[in-house]
Amino acid sequence: MDYPGNLFVVAAPSGAGKSSLVKALMELDSRVQPSVSHTTRAPRGQEKHGREYFFVSQQEFDGMVLAEAFVEWAHVHGQRYGTSKKAIEDRIVQGADVILEIDFQGALQIKKVFANAVLIFILPPSWEELRSRLERRGEDSAEVIELRLRNAALEMAQAREFDFVIINELFERALFDLKAIVHAQRLKFAAQRRARADTFQALNIT
Ligand code: 5GP
Repeated sequence: MDYPGNLFVVAAPSGAGKSSLVKALMELDSRVQPSVSHTTRAPRGQEKHGREYFFVSQQEFDGMVLAEAFVEWAHVHGQRYGTSKKAIEDRIVQGADVILEIDFQGALQIKKVFANAVLIFILPPSWEELRSRLERRGEDSAEVIELRLRNAALEMAQAREFDFVIINELFERALFDLKAIVHAQRLKFAAQRRARADTFQALNIT
């Protein structure tokens, strides 16, 4: 189904800079809105319930799975994460562009439900840089960093399934690439016809 809003799905191994890029995009472009996922993991640092995630118990998560409230959910790093249907559909029907920051399993599930979703994979420039970003972040124990790096190898092997790939070496360059992808979607025929209906009508383009 063709919705007036776009659905962007961004995946990356943790430490690739996905959250910073998506945050910067949303600051520059108010038409792009986040979808807040549910997770069973505990909040880190300054994270707030309802902002980065809805932090829920295992029981609450189970309840949502049973109620079919998720369009996708997955186990990531030993915790569960899910995207609620409501978070997406209502908004793309209304013409908003929604951006999801989820893992590759979730991204591939989303593509099955929303065939027009635009899948974007963010890669780090090297293993060394990925490791040092995780260490500098200072949020995870050495054990968790090793787990994240092992998972990164599996995740990056899935990049070929995505529509676009951004290599986050220089932040500004990667942000430019992300903006270019978003902009290109808005220039598609159906999107332009919707956004510029008067011009199309005046030019007799149906
Ligand atoms: P973190 O715990 O570092 O915030 O996130 C760990 C991983 O879970 C990241 O790759 C993140 O993108 C992914 N993730 C966050 N929300 C969702 C979601 O709703 N569904 C899926 N499948 N993955 C998610």
